[in-house]
Amino acid sequence: MDETVEEKEGGTMKYIIGVDIGTTSAKAIAFDFEGNLLTRKSIEYPIFNPKPTWSEQDPLAIFDAVVNTIKQVDDENKKVGNELECVAFSSAMHSLMAVDAEGNKLTDCIIWADTRSNEYAADIKNSSQGHDIYMKTGTPVHPMSPLPKLLWLRDHRPDVFSRAHKFISIKEYVFYKLFGHYVIDHSIASATGLFDIHTLQWYKESLDLAGITEEKLSKPVSTTHSLVGLNPGYAEQMGIDVNIPFVVGASDGCLANLGVNAIKPGDAAVTIGTSGAIRIIAKEPKNDEKERIFSYILTEDHFVLGGPVNNGGIVFRWFRDNFSPLEIREAAEKGIDPYELLTEKAAKVPAGADSLIFLPYLLGERAPHWDANSKGVFFGVNIKHTRDHFLRALLEGVIFGLYSVGKALQETTGNIDTIYATGGFVRSELWVQILADVFNKKVAIAESYESSCLGAAVLGMKALGVIDRVEEVEKLVPVSRVFEPDEEKHREYMKVYAIYERLYGLLKDEFVNIGNL
Ligand code: ADP
Repeated sequence: MDETVEEKEGGTMKYIIGVDIGTTSAKAIAFDFEGNLLTRKSIEYPIFNPKPTWSEQDPLAIFDAVVNTIKQVDDENKKVGNELECVAFSSAMHSLMAVDAEGNKLTDCIIWADTRSNEYAADIKNSSQGHDIYMKTGTPVHPMSPLPKLLWLRDHRPDVFSRAHKFISIKEYVFYKLFGHYVIDHSIASATGLFDIHTLQWYKESLDLAGITEEKLSKPVSTTHSLVGLNPGYAEQMGIDVNIPFVVGASDGCLANLGVNAIKPGDAAVTIGTSGAIRIIAKEPKNDEKERIFSYILTEDHFVLGGPVNNGGIVFRWFRDNFSPLEIREAAEKGIDPYELLTEKAAKVPAGADSLIFLPYLLGERAPHWDANSKGVFFGVNIKHTRDHFLRALLEGVIFGLYSVGKALQETTGNIDTIYATGGFVRSELWVQILADVFNKKVAIAESYESSCLGAAVLGMKALGVIDRVEEVEKLVPVSRVFEPDEEKHREYMKVYAIYERLYGLLKDEFVNIGNL
């Protein structure tokens, strides 16, 4: 996975390290000031599931991974005489942990995937305060968010709750260890359910609900805020000067938009990796009366609006692993990827899968329904349908899921013109073309390696004054391919989509019933 680009001609060059503290690994990438990737390193760490609904990580393992990836990237660049100018951060959203007065962990890091606070989230959502909290904080009320997690800790770990000096996210933990200060960037804060995105202050109503005061949280700072004065021990361990500025940066979701250059009005970024998301950038927060989308902060003038879906590429993986033994065998013999063979078969089925419709909610769903009880459904099965129809319907169903979120976004924020696509699904031309045809929009594939790391580096460049506006990212991200929509196919898709859209409402109660069997 790791790669190094050799020293460019001309010798010494200045560079920035963009670090992404992701869910599965920490990645550090060195970029020059033109956005070229110089060196990339990553170190993985595990997720623990001590109970089925729990997802936790060891913050110390993550900290070590961060320090070591920075060191590895810096060592390689030092060798060729390059000069580090700053380190800037991206991190996954929604994590929560408690620390004592010395900064030692009192809990592991409870990550976004943890759903132990499901009942608390449901109670808040259904309470008289639920809608107000969503509108003020921009964060959908959901167990991913730190607010219900705090309520869970209060009731289930009262010892920890009362002893906690601070409740923080993983990025704050890393910065505290490196600099001895608790700071939280506006972007990570805007995904906690505790922060007023309109006033850029902690939101008292949420804090009262959780039973905490501001002192228990970090100081909110802008995403280009930088700290200097590294802990000398860690500076030595990384081999970098104590005076190198560290820019706090933003969340991975917000930075992914920046890193693919989906930043102008009318641009949207669609990611389909294991899960998926669609996001746009607006000048101000625009919350959705129907509570379908989030509003997170990238900078004071850039709000990232959108919705995450659980059911992205994982749905295709499920089909490959459970219904495709022949393709798996053939692919192994030919030394190719089974997804390629499956995609070829799906391409032979007409758009709309001869009226077979798939609701992709294998893992419940976040946007647009925010309903953990929802389930997958094949609808309209008839005697002529083959396995490959099911496959085609499945690929279309994932896109319909994102389209339904895209519709909510367009209702709230205005029209989308161009979609910038990222994630594992861009390896399939068919799947990207389905995206273009369903949305009836142009889809561009950005030639970007790790958009969140590049996004972090762009904030670093802004903090250093190398660029004046984050919009200058346009110069740094070349587009490699563009897919044009096919109007006729779009019309076909819309016929089935109209039914798709109604099915969830018709089946909502039955999802609960089947879950209770
Ligand atoms: P992650 O979210 O873990 O970073 P990726 O961005 O690598 O995941 O995306 C993984 C997903 O991409 C797979 O689950 C699969 O659905 C899809 N995918 C990977 N390779 C292909 C391919 N050749 N054709 C179509 N889809 C693919």
